[in-house]
Amino acid sequence: MELRFNPLIGEWIMISTVRESRPWQPSSACPFDPGNEETGIGWSYLILPNRYPMLVPSPPRNSRTPGFKSRRSFGYCKVVVESPNHSLIDLHLMSLDELTNVLLGVRREVSDMEGQGFVKYVYFFRNKGREIGVSLTHPHSQIYALPYVPLRVRLEARNMRRYMKRRGSCMLCDELKAEAGSERLIYINDGFAIIKPYYSMWPYEIHVIPRRHVQKLTQLTDDEVRLMADSLRASTYMLDSVLGRDMPYVMAVHQAPVKFHESFHLHVEFYPMLRDAGKMKYAAGVEWGLWTFTYDSSPEAKAAELRRSCASARDLVGR
Ligand code: UDP
Ligand code: ZN
Ligand code: FE
Repeated sequence: MELRFNPLIGEWIMISTVRESRPWQPSSACPFDPGNEETGIGWSYLILPNRYPMLVPSPPRNSRTPGFKSRRSFGYCKVVVESPNHSLIDLHLMSLDELTNVLLGVRREVSDMEGQGFVKYVYFFRNKGREIGVSLTHPHSQIYALPYVPLRVRLEARNMRRYMKRRGSCMLCDELKAEAGSERLIYINDGFAIIKPYYSMWPYEIHVIPRRHVQKLTQLTDDEVRLMADSLRASTYMLDSVLGRDMPYVMAVHQAPVKFHESFHLHVEFYPMLRDAGKMKYAAGVEWGLWTFTYDSSPEAKAAELRRSCASARDLVGR
């Protein structure tokens, strides 16, 4: 287990051979069901150490190979088991109270992790669907506490910092102003807006953006955490209904690094993996080889579809 540096792109790779032994889509005996050795009973959600981690608080020594750079895998990998209900398909099928409690737990966990000196970045994310390779279908998300700030976040932070320096305002606060009442504004509550980004990369990509200028999860008030839960439920509701089938996706929470600059604006990105009910949107030659995305439709056309499926989510709100 170690981190190796790719000097071509300037990013670390997490290497861990224990990952090979993790269970792969077991058909019986789910390790996250209540009543197991690790889970016990009487809980509504659990935050457990990942049994097959990429990062640990006391990692082994790293290899030393002349000409290359490596370092020890300091960090944490935790699994958030969101519900005791194994067959719950997505977040909107939890009540607002249930999801709020999970997110309050995540906020506490993130705060604890950020208190450890070796933690430079805390990433909260959710993989959903066999298509994107979840190894266990029991509803869960994950938290990785990293000993470095990952490339994508470094890029976003740099761009938001430059934007603020040049224009004296925040990039995403300005985006929210520009999108007020627009065709790409899909949903809004008192704390969060769901936007179909003008610059979408994935066909049904949506961003969930706090309306207050905050950098990190730990800065959200209890009320804002509840409003975040509401907006995440609206997000998964619309993604799971827009194509008449449930949507595999990655949910990525982009918060600022532990040592942050005030220009960063917290946001959640959803990368849904389908372009229509029967077709995956694959990241292929252009996407992987260049990190340039090709968009087969228009974000505005997809926004209209999402707005239609979101309209039927209205009665979900507040429940
Ligand atoms: N896992 C665990 N305890 C177990 C079985 C699995 O902590 O008894 C972890 C496993 O290592 C994996 C996670 O649960 O990281 C399930 O995550 P997911 O399927 O979303 O994606 P993965 O992390 O496997 O890519
Ligand atoms: Zn802002
Ligand atoms: Fe982002």
